[in-house]
Amino acid sequence: MRKLFPVVSRKLSHVCSLKPYKETKWLMPNGNPIGAYIYNCVANEKVPIILNDPHIATWYSCGPTVYDSAHIGHASCYVKLDIIQRILKSFLNVKLVTAMGITDIDDKIIKKSIETKTPFQNVAKQYEHEFWLDMSSLNIEKPMIITRVSDHITTIESFVKKLIDNEKAYVTLDGSVYFDTTKYPSYGKLQKAQSEGEAANEEKRNKMDFALWKAHKPGEPTWEMSWGQGRPGWHVECSAMISKVFGSQLDFHAGGIDLQFPHHENEEAQSCAFHNIRQWANYWVHVGHLHVKGDTKMSKSLKNTISIPELLKQHSSDVFRMACLTSNYRNPMEYSPAVMKTAEEFLNKFKFFLKDAFIYVNNNATSSGDYKDKILNDLQKTEEANLEALRNDFNTAICINNLLTLIGNANKVMKSETNDYYPVPIVLIADYVTSMLTTFGLKLQDSEQDSILSNSLIDTLVEFRHTVRLNALSRKDKEVLQACDIVRDKMKSMKVQINDSKKISSWVSIK
Ligand SMILES: [Zn+2]
Repeated sequence: MRKLFPVVSRKLSHVCSLKPYKETKWLMPNGNPIGAYIYNCVANEKVPIILNDPHIATWYSCGPTVYDSAHIGHASCYVKLDIIQRILKSFLNVKLVTAMGITDIDDKIIKKSIETKTPFQNVAKQYEHEFWLDMSSLNIEKPMIITRVSDHITTIESFVKKLIDNEKAYVTLDGSVYFDTTKYPSYGKLQKAQSEGEAANEEKRNKMDFALWKAHKPGEPTWEMSWGQGRPGWHVECSAMISKVFGSQLDFHAGGIDLQFPHHENEEAQSCAFHNIRQWANYWVHVGHLHVKGDTKMSKSLKNTISIPELLKQHSSDVFRMACLTSNYRNPMEYSPAVMKTAEEFLNKFKFFLKDAFIYVNNNATSSGDYKDKILNDLQKTEEANLEALRNDFNTAICINNLLTLIGNANKVMKSETNDYYPVPIVLIADYVTSMLTTFGLKLQDSEQDSILSNSLIDTLVEFRHTVRLNALSRKDKEVLQACDIVRDKMKSMKVQINDSKKISSWVSIK
């Protein structure tokens, strides 16, 4: 029987047999290709996804440093990672074991704790709680394993100690511990080292060396270690916690593009040194930044952030997710009224189609029994094209585009003026569209305030207006048609959008 959370341990001989991929620094894992490709920054191109176990993959996302509220930048990062995880699980049949690390000991948390005279643990707990509420309001699936730095001090202690014992790290006079980057020749494989490191000084031997452990400073939380007092450095936390949970290697390691260097570079360096392996994370997944139109960067210090509750006052979580689906996860994403409006229009097109399809197939026309080959071919081609797009670095934007074309063609059939009636292909298309969109994590529900009663009242009104309108159209009665338009506009101001065609009028609720 399989263990629920398998610890993936790879023997050294196995790891040593990894071969360089083309001329790149990325080493191709041995094992089972799943028929999909993903961009990897180490290879600087798309590489095949190969899992050691045919169906199981391990995934770690760097979580937030919980010192403040999350903003829409976090929202886009975690929504896009959630979409990729759903694709791996549902479309590529991977049993994904997901973990996330929460940084609950950090400079910024300590600073906030001093400013607000609140114990640092309480600061962290408050913002972590808020983070999970935000994630849930965005319909993001919670990781199966959550690791917190404060729960893993002994894990981090043994990780650092082994690096010191193996002379991959050194203790400075004040009791800090630095990783010695000269002992790791592949340093810079994720991203060529930039001039970010502080210059070497009396304490630090080399410019790119980074702190695994920070010596104690008065007023800060501290832990007693064999080499001295202090607290963990940021980079070591994820490596130590991942090794504890997943063993000596992991399949996917994810985070925002800002983490690629130095955070992930340092994680890879110290983990390879710790496990004595050449490649630790096989696939790095980095999400592009979200920026508010007009601002180059969103940050707390620039005070131009938008919180997640503020975002959800303006747009539903489905509209935000649709905006994420239509932007490539690796590219920068713009947050602007125009982008959100387009996302809402796309979403409404799908919702209208699903409602229209329901009305269409339940009318009392008689099917010729003809399955309308052209529409069924459309469906099959779309299914194939979508699977190909998802296998090619999770290209959801192409899928959404393909789906819009599919429903556009189906709409033409449903709303044509002939009396042809094709319920079977329309049902199949509606079913496919629903399953694709819900698998991407869209809820496709009307807002909660729409009770059953108000829905049926709106149904009645829309149906009545439709009959009156068709009558007026055939009589070319301008006055009645104008009245119908006024009703439509009034309904829109009450957040009910009506879509008219000659055969069907339907509605969706809008934000
Ligand atoms: Zn991390």
